[in-house]
Amino acid sequence: MTEKLHLGYKYRLYPNKDQQQMLDETFFVANQTSNILLTLWNEDRLKNKDVEKKNQAWTPIKEQYNIVQYSLRVRGVGYKTAVIQETMRDFADAKTRCFSKYTTEKRNKKISEATNDKELEKAYRYGYPKFKNSSDIQQSFSFRNQGIGFEENEYGRISHFRIFSEKIKMKYHRDFPENSEIKTLVVSRNQAGQYFVSFTMEFEKEIHYKIPENIKSSIGIDLNVNTIATSKDVSSLFQNEIEVKELHLIQNKRIDRKSFLNEKMIKLFERKNSKRVLRILENKEKLGSNFRKTQKKLNKKSLKSQNQKKDLYHKISKTIVNKFDLIAMEDLNVDKMTKSAKGTVEKPGIDVRLKSELNKLILGASFYQFASFVEYKTQHTGKLFVKVDPAYSSLECSKCGCRKKGNRPRQDKFCCLDCGYQANPDIQAAYTIEQRGLQSFGVGMTLVDSKH
Ligand SMILES: [Zn+2]
Repeated sequence: MTEKLHLGYKYRLYPNKDQQQMLDETFFVANQTSNILLTLWNEDRLKNKDVEKKNQAWTPIKEQYNIVQYSLRVRGVGYKTAVIQETMRDFADAKTRCFSKYTTEKRNKKISEATNDKELEKAYRYGYPKFKNSSDIQQSFSFRNQGIGFEENEYGRISHFRIFSEKIKMKYHRDFPENSEIKTLVVSRNQAGQYFVSFTMEFEKEIHYKIPENIKSSIGIDLNVNTIATSKDVSSLFQNEIEVKELHLIQNKRIDRKSFLNEKMIKLFERKNSKRVLRILENKEKLGSNFRKTQKKLNKKSLKSQNQKKDLYHKISKTIVNKFDLIAMEDLNVDKMTKSAKGTVEKPGIDVRLKSELNKLILGASFYQFASFVEYKTQHTGKLFVKVDPAYSSLECSKCGCRKKGNRPRQDKFCCLDCGYQANPDIQAAYTIEQRGLQSFGVGMTLVDSKH
């Protein structure tokens, strides 16, 4: 079957001073537009709150457009109408997403789980567009493909990206896929102040989809801070490029805890002011404007180690997707994971708690990155990817199905109380994840009903 596929391609930009200013102004215009639209929408929603649907009055698009232009003009902000139009389209998409089945379900779940007023308030706002702050270092605006282009160097290779009639130097490190078309693009500035352009490329590809009856090989993956545990022997897959221990444990790239924090938080962390760092991580305290300035100075080392991790995840996911027909991973609930463990019996010291909070945060980010790489690679090759319910995966014996707390006498040991099976607990969890993945497609051994 021929499918239309989308893939992201991201390139570093090197704008000169004037071009930087032009891009920064564009971020500002996009943010302002978005904020004005959000204000109008909030006002409309308030007005229509208790009004019957047929009698509700909403600001027409044309009027919104005029209000945005007027507001920018009175503030003396120069703008390109295309940027306003793009932002209006983006905002409309954000509104649609806000009421999608997925977001609504997630919001309702958060509302039902909220334990205090503050959480409840946050839960109600989940998925709604937010006000954008132009003093943040990280910025972006999106654009379609009108009026943009590329310039080539003397060797016929792309060297510049053209937008708003400016030719901005671009590092074309990776070719676009053949016969592809640019659908959308996003120009962004990261936390180190570097500029990028990301394209969503559309192209057609012939895909031979795997059907569950034809699954010949499957694998379960359990992602941890130090290792990525697999249910199959993967030691021969990576040659000597990536370290594999006990045939099943792929060495994960460690992200330094500090590199995950911004400069201000590192300072607090070093001063052992972990109580405050924790409060910030738990969203109980907001950082002031000074922090935004220091954010820019976030060291390049941290970005470098994040990029190395990304490369590693691309390599691992590519190899695994090529080799296996079905890939199963846990469906992690990072919200829960990053939430502090409230009311623990032992009440560990604040530093211990902070360290475990950070580990969860880092692991959560890694998990989403790795899972998304595996997911799109399976989509592009017709393989199967499944996220399984993670409940008790660390306590359930993959040999006999016994699920007891005592199966895990220690953090680093799995020993089944029923059948005596012993294994590395992470590998054991990967076995269980694989089995649940197979079960979800109606194949494989059914040991226990995982709903219990
Ligand atoms: Zn057992």
